[in-house]
Formats: sequence, structure tokens, C-alpha cells
Amino acid sequence: MKVDIISPGTYTYGSLVLGGILRDRGHQVRISRTPVSGGEVTLISLYSTLQLLDPSIKELTGPRDRVYVGGPVCICPEMVLGELSADAAVVGEGEDIVASLVESGPEGLPGVAYREDGRIVKSPPKPIMSLDHPLPLIPEDLKQQNVRGANVYIETHRGCLGGCTFCQVPRLFGRTIRSRSIENVLEEVREMKRLGVRRVSVSGGTGSLFGYRSQLNKDALIELLSSLSEILGKRNLSVPDMRVDLVDEEVLEAIRDYTIGWVFFGLETGSERILKMMRKGVSVEDGRRAVELAKSLGVKAGGSFIVGYPTESREDFEETMAFMEETMLDDVFVSIAEPIPGTSLAEQVLTSSREEIPLFQEHRGEYSSLKFLEAEARCFELMLHGESCKPIPRALSGELYNAYLAETRTQGADISRVMALLEKYRNHLL
Ligand code: SF4
Repeated sequence: MKVDIISPGTYTYGSLVLGGILRDRGHQVRISRTPVSGGEVTLISLYSTLQLLDPSIKELTGPRDRVYVGGPVCICPEMVLGELSADAAVVGEGEDIVASLVESGPEGLPGVAYREDGRIVKSPPKPIMSLDHPLPLIPEDLKQQNVRGANVYIETHRGCLGGCTFCQVPRLFGRTIRSRSIENVLEEVREMKRLGVRRVSVSGGTGSLFGYRSQLNKDALIELLSSLSEILGKRNLSVPDMRVDLVDEEVLEAIRDYTIGWVFFGLETGSERILKMMRKGVSVEDGRRAVELAKSLGVKAGGSFIVGYPTESREDFEETMAFMEETMLDDVFVSIAEPIPGTSLAEQVLTSSREEIPLFQEHRGEYSSLKFLEAEARCFELMLHGESCKPIPRALSGELYNAYLAETRTQGADISRVMALLEKYRNHLL
């Protein structure tokens, strides 16, 4: 059959994997980041809630027959099928069912939702046993893609031991870690390199959980990084996300010796109270220690922070500012708490009063002339603060100021739209 896989804007790793499975079944598969037509079946791979509101994606699903949508947003299939005229949403992992879906439709398959006689029929997902898969379908222009500095993020494992309230990973993939074999990952990366892909990032929730069984299996991660580095060169390999309680000297030394030498910790906040509410399972002190250890071993440390979490007070926020000063990170990412569908945070936002959510509060402080909401003001302030706390601070040029301003406004507007969408489907999300 002729199958079009559309991964709007960015090739998701999942879209490449499903493309490979269908190619090996003998289908004629075309994969694209922009709309294409002519296939007998269209698969659309989404990576964010906001894509459901994108007119170009709504248009994609309208006039076609047999359109199936996949991606984390399908955790709430009523929302996907309510916003897009798709024929089915794939709620679970797609690898085992994609061939049957394309060849015979969604009826009777696990982990799909589709309309029948005006109602939505859903079947529970069935987790796949082995994550090893055939070579992905690697499009010509993957080598030109740039996702935070990498051409592609490849998945090495699924699941997370953590239960952070704002994260979809445990809900989507569970809290048992399933890892690919090292050889399966290496084979894929060799093929990507042969086709011109140079920069690869390995991910899967939190990098150091690769190979985890009964305890942190550092040897598996170290062996993986060392082998990938031999193929790609250390300048082209990154391991973005780590939990602060799942790194030690050996893991950090491997990051230093086999990758670009950066680690990114999900630090989230400097407020012990908010960290507990986020069910992060670590303390502020754990974060401090991990950053110090990384730096002492010559690894550059970045950190991500979340502002505007429900009930976050000005005092909580000031603790985050102080934490940032102490840790002097080489880079920081700041985001406003986003209630991603299927997370406890989304449920909390839907059941909290508006006064508890900084994104709904008018900002009356230092940045009131910018007409920010409180969460936006904190986001902007922390971004500026992050610059001044770097070991080598950058001068705050007008250009940088405006870039942070624009980023803050985009985040605020996007999350407000997500909240409105959640409100519309609240019955299905609670
Ligand atoms: S540690 Fe990271 S991947 Fe795991 S639940 Fe928390 S945020 Fe998600």
C-alpha cells in the first residue's frame, strides 16, 4: 500500500521507527515534515498538545480517508478525535499494531480509539515486550534537521522510575524500564551516519536509566556511550537529560569522555515545598550536589526550571532564584508549568481554584509595564537571572532581552491555549 507518514515540523523518532516497520512489510512509505498527499493511508505523528490547534494540521486530517494519529497527546483520544477529523488515535505503543492498522483498520487492535456509530470506542494498550526494531526509515533531509543542536533524538529505553507530576513518561511507558539492546542502537546509528546524519542525542526520559534492571546499570550506559562515540565522534553525541539522583562519578566521566561533555539536570525549583508537590523524589540539596559533582569532573552542567507551578508563592520563586545563584549553571532552561494531558499536574490545574495558579494571576510587580501574568513575569525574571548567574555571564543586550521577552510571551500564550483545551475536555481528563 502507499502510506504517507507526516510528522509536522520535526521528524519524531517514532515516525521514523514506524516507517521502517512498514517499509519492511513491503509497503511504499513516504515520510515528510510537510503535508503530502496521494497515499492510501496517512499516519500523523504529533509531539505536542498545541498541534491539535494548528490549522495546518486540522487541514491535513480533513479531506483524506484513513487518517490515523499517534503521539503522546493521544493519551486523551477524545481530545484528539474531537479536534481533528482523524479516523483513529493510537493511544499505546504503535510498533506492534502499525502494520495491522494500515492493512485492516483499527477495529480489534489494542491501544487504539476510533469512532463507531457516533461514539468513541477505546481498547486498552498492550505494552510491547522488546524495544528492538528494524532499521528506521531515514529521510533524505534528516541530516538537515536541528532539534536543540542534534539532527535527531534517538530512543534507547522507555519508562522512568520517577513519578514527577508534570511528566507524561511514567503514564505513557510505566515505571519499569525497558531498554533496547546496544547492538540495535548501534546498527541504527551506523546507518544514520552512512546517510549523512552527524549529530545524535540519546534520550528516553532520563539517560542514565538505560539498561536499568534491579539497580543502576552504569556499565550498559557507559558501553553504549563509548560505542556511539566511536561511530559519531564525541562532538556529535549528547545525552541531554539526567535525574540528579541517578548520576555518579563514573556516569559523569563517561559523559565527559564520550559526548559533547554537557549534562542537563531537571532541577525544576529551589523550593523544597514545590519540589515535594512535584513528587520529584529528590531534594534541593541532591540537585546542588549533582551540579557540584558534574562541575568538579569537568562536565558542563545545565539545568531546567519550572515556574508558576500551582500554589508557587513569591517566596518559593525567590528560593529558586537563590538556588540558581548558588549553582552557577552553564546554561538554563526556564519554562512555565505546562499541564500536559494525562499528568497529575493537568488534573491538579483542572481542579484548583484560579487563585492558586500563577498563570491566571495578574502580575503587579517589577514587570507590570510589560502586562505579564504572574507566571510569565517569573519566567522572564528567571531567564534574565540565569544569564547573570552563569560562570561567564553574557552582557544583556537588547537583542537577548527581546528574545527572552518573546519566548516568555509565546510560552504564556501557548499554555493558556492548552489550559483552554483541557477545560473543554475536562470530563475525559479527570
Ligand atoms: S525523572 Fe524525568 S522522565 Fe522521569 S518522571 Fe521525572 S521528569 Fe519524567
